[in-house]
Amino acid sequence: AAEMKQHSFSAEVGQLLDLVVHSLYSDREIFLRELVANAADAIDKRRFEALTNSALSLPETPSIHISTDKDAKTITLSDDGLGMSPDELTQNLGTIARSGTKAFGEKLSNAKPEERPNLIGQFGVGFYSAFMVADKVDVVSRRAGEDVAARWVSEGKGSYSLGPAERDRPGTDIVLHMKDDAEEFIDPWRLRSIIRKWADHIAWPVVLHEPDEDGKEKEETINEGKALWLRPKSEITSEEYTEFYRHVARAFDEPYATLHWKAEGTVEFASLLFLPGARPFDFMEQSSRESRLHLHVKRMFITDEANLVPNWLRFVQGVVDTDDLPLNVSREMLQSTPVLARIRKAVTKRVISEIKKRAQEGGEAFTGFWNNFGLVIKEGLWEDSEHRQEIAEFSRFHSTRDDELTTLDDYISRMKPEQETIYYLVGDNLNALKASAQLEGFRARGLEVLLLSDAVDSFWPDRLHSYKDKTFRSVAQAHGDLEKFALETEEEGEAADVAKLSPALKDALGDAVKDVRSTVRLTGSAVVMTSEGGPDLAMQRLMRRSGQ
Ligand code: ADP
Repeated sequence: AAEMKQHSFSAEVGQLLDLVVHSLYSDREIFLRELVANAADAIDKRRFEALTNSALSLPETPSIHISTDKDAKTITLSDDGLGMSPDELTQNLGTIARSGTKAFGEKLSNAKPEERPNLIGQFGVGFYSAFMVADKVDVVSRRAGEDVAARWVSEGKGSYSLGPAERDRPGTDIVLHMKDDAEEFIDPWRLRSIIRKWADHIAWPVVLHEPDEDGKEKEETINEGKALWLRPKSEITSEEYTEFYRHVARAFDEPYATLHWKAEGTVEFASLLFLPGARPFDFMEQSSRESRLHLHVKRMFITDEANLVPNWLRFVQGVVDTDDLPLNVSREMLQSTPVLARIRKAVTKRVISEIKKRAQEGGEAFTGFWNNFGLVIKEGLWEDSEHRQEIAEFSRFHSTRDDELTTLDDYISRMKPEQETIYYLVGDNLNALKASAQLEGFRARGLEVLLLSDAVDSFWPDRLHSYKDKTFRSVAQAHGDLEKFALETEEEGEAADVAKLSPALKDALGDAVKDVRSTVRLTGSAVVMTSEGGPDLAMQRLMRRSGQ
């Protein structure tokens, strides 16, 4: 049409589209899951906005309709969701604000074909998955509360067109013009089985339209929309749990742990939570550090911004459903209600006790979990004063002892009788730490040192201060301690007579150093930097980087 204007995709979208279209040969059926999930999200959003603006109210039975046209080779999805204004169409479907796109692209092109769907799932290509099966996608959307609709059309090759359109009520239609090699999907039977597999947990009716014998249309609601978390545990299979996990987390992996329980007492709620089995691809690049656990009231999705667990548990996925809040709970109320505070406390406690239990069981599975999320959990050592000691109890650390991770309790059990503090060394990477000259004097005395190489490790030791009465001490500040410990090797260096050398060195280094002294603690290296009385060296580096 003449009024349609052409626009270019942002570079990232172009790149992502290219990757999605060219690297996924199998599992293309996930496009349906992504589009149906988007439609359901849009209905959730409209329901929530309508609480404070009745003009946006949902129709009586908000639903998602799917129809096919064999002659036109199309599949159409229609929803009664919030819809998108022209600006939102541009913003949501034409740009992509994801920092990890480039790295994701590289990883995707290097991955084996069978690993790709999993990667895509971790990254979440969402709407763009439509281009795996369609060579043209036509979106008509009308934002609830607005009178006009807009059309967005693209062939997924660098550009899209935007223009005015007609839609008699708010919501979104997506017409997929299917590729020749994807015609298999234009089949109600096929669509039904895919939706049963992927979208059974969608809370809104997913209605499939199909022509019956006399050529008339027949409608059938194909998802059960059941609230899995309200069913008795004994009736739920592990496959159902996994499917639900993949649905809420939009993931492809198996959960590491499934926590399903009902709380009764001062506050009542049902909860179904998961500790993921894999780290989402862009997890560390995500700009938000807040939990996205879903809060439901009386089975209805309310929000994923209720911060149901502390930030250091933001990898936990799932749903909390309570009858103790009103259905029309407002944002303000969510922030202040004691009900939510009690739910938070109870949920956090339950998750921590699960992690503790699994830490005690130990094994490779826990090591895998720790490798995925330990670096986030340790943020809690820094910022969660209430749970700091508990977190310290199940945390794992590298040390000079061997390549295995150790707990603090095990470290303490190996401490020398005259050792009072837990020694640690902070740096950017483990191999550099292992080779650090800082460790020589400690190794020579058989003293174990924790090797801390995650970004957050620069912060928590000072904050945690002590664990089971043992304080933490950076080896860079602890060389004075060494005199107390007997040498276990013969390699000790001799304290060279540097009486003449040190004033000259001090002169040359000027303000860069406080003092130059001789030491007995080096065995292999000639010089080592220490920091006594000042902030730890790693902290100083960090402060310099941030310009302090
Ligand atoms: P994600 O769903 O992970 O945010 P998508 O690429 O799937 O990413 O979608 C991008 C955005 O487009 C969504 O966040 C949403 O704002 C908007 N969107 C997609 N589909 C719909 C829809 N059916 N109705 C309203 N908005 C939608």
